[in-house]
Amino acid sequence: MAFDSLTEKLQNVFKSLRSKGRLTEEDVKAALKEVRMALLEADVNFKVVKNFVKEVQERAVGQDVMNGLNPGQMVIKIVNEELVKLMGSETTEIRLQPGSAITVLMMAGLQGAGKTTTTAKLAGKYKLKGKNPLLVACDVYRPAAIKQLQINGEKQGVEVFSMGEKNRPADIAKAALEHAKKNHNNLVILDTAGRLHIDEEMMSELQEIKEAVEVHQTILVVDAMTGQDAVNVAGSFNEKIGIDGVIVTKLDGDTRGGAALSIKAVTGCPILYVGMGEKLSDLEQFYPDRMASRILGMGDVLTLIEKAGAELDEDKARQMAEKMKKAQFDFEDYLESMNQMKKMGGLSSILGMMPGLGGLGGLGKGKLPELDTQENEKKMARMEAIIYSMTVEERRNPDILNPSRKHRIAKGAGVDIAEVNRMVKQFNETRKMMKKLPGMMGGRGGKKGRF
Ligand code: GDP
Repeated sequence: MAFDSLTEKLQNVFKSLRSKGRLTEEDVKAALKEVRMALLEADVNFKVVKNFVKEVQERAVGQDVMNGLNPGQMVIKIVNEELVKLMGSETTEIRLQPGSAITVLMMAGLQGAGKTTTTAKLAGKYKLKGKNPLLVACDVYRPAAIKQLQINGEKQGVEVFSMGEKNRPADIAKAALEHAKKNHNNLVILDTAGRLHIDEEMMSELQEIKEAVEVHQTILVVDAMTGQDAVNVAGSFNEKIGIDGVIVTKLDGDTRGGAALSIKAVTGCPILYVGMGEKLSDLEQFYPDRMASRILGMGDVLTLIEKAGAELDEDKARQMAEKMKKAQFDFEDYLESMNQMKKMGGLSSILGMMPGLGGLGGLGKGKLPELDTQENEKKMARMEAIIYSMTVEERRNPDILNPSRKHRIAKGAGVDIAEVNRMVKQFNETRKMMKKLPGMMGGRGGKKGRF
């Protein structure tokens, strides 16, 4: 996955800031030198890195540490905010024409970037959203490309319009639009021909298509694995034909992530989606904030940071952490912790209050962040219903939960018994994990002794 090494390096930088009471200019400078190196090694554009470090430095030096955060977390907060800004702050949607009017998207990109695959992926996404897409094979140079689009279109259950290799792409686009009007397709996606390198012929062909039909959005597909080349390609396309957004493919295979981090800052063009694999379902909408927290690898701390000073009920969280540490907690605590979670953003943030874990990736990333997803919030609501269906005795003494009690609880909560079993099992596993934690914990960090 992209950013692995960047994530690791950033986490190390933040760890070293943890024990500081107040950040001096030297502390921040030393840490940012490391951040700078980490970003350059991730192949982020050097000008972008320079600006990024400058911004963070200006904001971090001499900053008072916010209530509820240690200095290391304060810097994480700033770095996170700047990363989000770097990637465009807001999620950019592909702009569709209102109502049932036809939207025409033109896909552009170099050969091998993943254009044809992405075109089919996109059609699938919009079909799910209720659109009736028409894919158009405008790559007349490679018969294989037409075939590939047809195969992928079929897999997605989306119609593919082709006129073979004998016509000009602009004429194909025009004919496709007529076809779309007759067949009530409201989204026309033109798969154009790429070249190995940027060349005039390719650009004028795209220009011709734009003159022949009204293209509402031009979307450039670039390969993340080509790093800064992808950024340069985006710059050239934008200059020559104007692009509305970029889709960065193969982020699954790119260990550095520099393209994803630099494109918006260098070209001004937002990233719309990222390709995360070869399967037609492997296309994800691009959320700058989620990507930043993925890069930092600490969604849990970030949520905690966001909520710091707002609704953080520290004492309760600390008590909970104590109980968890001793593996004494029961379903009543579980309920309470869920309330805390709602306020603070996840079980992981409570764990983050535990000395030694410090929220700085102490448990290793990948083990906790999934607790913070929306899906889990739904699960949490069902868990809550199950716990509310227990008697107080059962909540305080989970070991008495036998099959007949579980049946009654399932009925009360309106869920399947299997779900109750699953939850009890999960609860027991959490308890077991908690028992193991004290051994994993290091010393106390932070002058205030809080993290
Ligand atoms: P085009 O020449 O730009 O049309 O590129 P293709 O759509 O033919 O894709 C080139 C190769 O990249 C194919 O083998 C695709 O399966 C692969 N590919 C496309 N997108 C992704 C992605 O997001 N992740 C990975 N791992 N492979 C991808």
